Amino acid sequence: MIDLAGKTALVTGSVQGIGLGIAEALAAAGARIAVHGLAGDAEAQEVCAHLRARGAPDAAFFPGDLRDSDRIEELMGAVAAWGGADILVNNAGIQHAAPLAEMPRAKWEAILQVNLTAAFLTMKAALPVMAARGYGRVVNIASVHGLVASKDKAPYVAAKFGLVGLSKVAALEYAARGVPARGGVTVNCICPGWVETALIEPQIAARAALHDGDRARGVADLLAEKQPSLRMSRTSEIGALALWLCAPMAHNLTGAAIPVDGGWTAQ
Ligand code: NAD
Repeated sequence: MIDLAGKTALVTGSVQGIGLGIAEALAAAGARIAVHGLAGDAEAQEVCAHLRARGAPDAAFFPGDLRDSDRIEELMGAVAAWGGADILVNNAGIQHAAPLAEMPRAKWEAILQVNLTAAFLTMKAALPVMAARGYGRVVNIASVHGLVASKDKAPYVAAKFGLVGLSKVAALEYAARGVPARGGVTVNCICPGWVETALIEPQIAARAALHDGDRARGVADLLAEKQPSLRMSRTSEIGALALWLCAPMAHNLTGAAIPVDGGWTAQ
């Protein structure tokens, strides 16, 4: 059993999808959860109540549109006032698929900002405090697209490769910081292949359209192209790995980019 009692976790983009799966796993281990994402009041409060029911001693919603760097600094200030993040999960992300020559500049800028710059700013604020406390965990949700490329995803692949590189730099800078008995400070990436969430719905819909709108065939088509297991991952599975990375026993696993991709990047 991994016990996170007394720890606070900020999970960006935790109102749905993979972020919610991670927040659920950390809540069940007893962490306080700083919930974040684009959500209205009712949805945000519903997620907080759900996480308290899953075992979090407390859960509170912290707004902040990650497209705006000033809002990110406000977010980190508000979380610091709530106790500060012992665990930081940079999960929020956006995607847009189009050939490079047709990619709107605004999409490039938004994807780089949300998927990469936001992680730089949250880590910059959180890591010194983690080092002073002797324990800290940064879990960045990159992607197989932080390890290999696919066409039509220029800004997403650039941002995710950037996130893997940023995480390695931070891992090195903090490798010997923190207190061994408390678990030290580690920084890692999880690199999922296909996980069935809202993020990939447009890609499923585009494939389904090639099969008379048959969604199951659209999903099968996407998997057959890249993911040898032919199975999607579940958000709870990404949550379980993030939880394990937060355990004190994972103190020497740092600077890694761990694929959960059914063999995608083994090819
Ligand atoms: P999702 O669309 O279900 O969730 C994205 C989350 O990010 C939401 O909670 C949303 O509120 C938040 N968010 C988006 N834009 C934001 C902004 N401007 N400001 C603040 N919050 C914002 O997607 P998901 O699949 O759960 O994706 C989570 C992470 O996993 C992303 O970083 C994504 O790149 C990565 N990922 C997903 C897959 C997949 O197959 N689903 C595969 C590899 C990596």
